[in-house]
Amino acid sequence: MTESVRRHVAGLAPDELPSYVYDLAALRDHAAAVRAALPERVELYYAAKANPEAPVLTALGEAVDGYEVSSGGELAHVRAAVPGAPLAFGGPGKTPAEIVAAVDAGVHRWHVESEQELHRLAAVLADRPGMVVDVLLRVNLPVRTGTLDAVALAMGGRPTPFGLDPDCAEECVRLLTDGGPIGRQLRLRGVHAHLASGLAATEHLALAEGIVAWSAALADRHGFPLDEVNVGGGMAVDYDDPGHRFDWTAFGDGLAKLLDAHPGLILRIEPGRALTAYCGWYATEVLDVKGSHGEDFAVLRGGTHHLRTPATRGHSQPFEVLAVEAWPHPWPRPAVTTGRATLTGQLCTPKDVLARAAEGADGLRTADRVLFAMAGAYAWNISHHEFLMHPHPGFHYLGG
Ligand SMILES: *Cc1c(COP(=O)(O)O)cnc(C)c1O
Repeated sequence: MTESVRRHVAGLAPDELPSYVYDLAALRDHAAAVRAALPERVELYYAAKANPEAPVLTALGEAVDGYEVSSGGELAHVRAAVPGAPLAFGGPGKTPAEIVAAVDAGVHRWHVESEQELHRLAAVLADRPGMVVDVLLRVNLPVRTGTLDAVALAMGGRPTPFGLDPDCAEECVRLLTDGGPIGRQLRLRGVHAHLASGLAATEHLALAEGIVAWSAALADRHGFPLDEVNVGGGMAVDYDDPGHRFDWTAFGDGLAKLLDAHPGLILRIEPGRALTAYCGWYATEVLDVKGSHGEDFAVLRGGTHHLRTPATRGHSQPFEVLAVEAWPHPWPRPAVTTGRATLTGQLCTPKDVLARAAEGADGLRTADRVLFAMAGAYAWNISHHEFLMHPHPGFHYLGG
């Protein structure tokens, strides 16, 4: 944990826990380093769904070129939090009302996910003569067998509801470029492909090369200029080893080589997790420690209804302990004595586990504080807050 986070959490009263604590200064530094590793012709968008909190979006403002939003709700929220920032609008299942709202908001790029979406968008634009929008076709590209087997989440390269099948993409390109009504107000700028999450730099580069090659061939076949290719997000974050980071330098170097081979092309990436995961901590305290059939359990204030990430991914969330020496009670202080403990929350379900059989919990005592790291992405906003009606955590933004 950073020094400012440690100091802040040490100063919180027990009933101010649990709290999410964000180090926005560390976030700004990290995002600036990511930006610096990327060549000029790579645009960096932040996928807002990873963590859409307004101070987080604002802190990223200097380093990113824009934000990727995937719903009408995110669109309105990000517009209000970072007014004027370019937005890319993606996501399967855009409703007619969302399409109208995004047209009227003037989004910078459309990531079109189906042929019907092209028709819907063209119909909305027909009521707004003279208005033209820029479109990328999101394609679910075939990937070499085995490439995505090891990654955490695969959105492409196999049957999924995301993007266009390659054959359908050909048909969409025809509709956009055949001189018919659809192409009059929709300008085809290129291709978007977000195929997986959890990719190391070399894996991501191999995918990016494949996406660009496929897109260039598509543009050649149909004779349209390929201005842009968005190769998605999904840069890996290693919850088992927080120090092991995505190699942005190698990734930037690889993208620079790819761009050398395609003069004039703009590449875009849209990471979420790898930008914000490291800037957030979920801080809480030990309410009780007990032995059960030979194993120790430390029951924490809060739980997976606030930080669902370890339950959804099946990992142990990395944590650090902040020892609290004061013990004002006359009864013995319950403590971990078996060398390890499972850290659970307050929910009445055995699935409420934040870290399992963790050796880092050796000696942990009631009232000690526990800070879960890497809680800045897909954490609070993916959690089932209302289950069991415990209070919501606090939110603290340091270095804003
Ligand atoms: C979720 C998502 C991202 C971000 O993925 P991360 O794994 O958080 O980097 C980017 N693009 C699209 C289309 C997404 O759905």
